[in-house]
Amino acid sequence: MRIGLDFDNTIACYDSAITKLAEEMFELPDLVPRTKLGVRDYLRMQAREVEWTAFQGELYGPGMRYAQAYEGAIETMLELSALGHELFIVSHRSKKPYAGTPHDLHAAARAWLKETVQSHGLFINDQVFFLETRDQKVQMIKELGCEIFLDDLPEVLEAPEFPSITRGILFVPDSSNEKVSTHHTTISQWTSLPALIKQA
Ligand SMILES: [Mg+2]
Repeated sequence: MRIGLDFDNTIACYDSAITKLAEEMFELPDLVPRTKLGVRDYLRMQAREVEWTAFQGELYGPGMRYAQAYEGAIETMLELSALGHELFIVSHRSKKPYAGTPHDLHAAARAWLKETVQSHGLFINDQVFFLETRDQKVQMIKELGCEIFLDDLPEVLEAPEFPSITRGILFVPDSSNEKVSTHHTTISQWTSLPALIKQA
């Protein structure tokens, strides 16, 4: 099967990267949770929105050195690949940050993939696509003819142009997140993916 995979917050986990980078960049009071929402809300409350935007540019740029693959992600990709499935990574993230140092965010993600994923023997160089908008991403999923697509954002799976031949699977690593839509097959860990694909 042709299996498409989202990148940010599906393969790459930023939980500890956010914590580490926020400690480096800001002097946070003890009470501020070192999470994405915690840091964002704190900066917003202080009218430091620009710093929040710059933070994201750092996070998805050089801050990727702190990002980790989700537990089981690499092993599962290797397993699926060994079973003969074709894997594609299709992501949308802006190429340059909206504020702060103009890092090449696509290059940062590719470098991370090379070091973190491809170093384990998964060679998918020409099957990795970084696009700038969600529409372009959905179009690419269509062009690649993905039969499965795994993403952490319901908006992607529910986009009007999302191909009808593609079965969307929602990745919800934090199963306590109640806001998530229930229209989709949902997995909370990568290791659940092969069984789902087998049924398809
Ligand atoms: Mg994502």
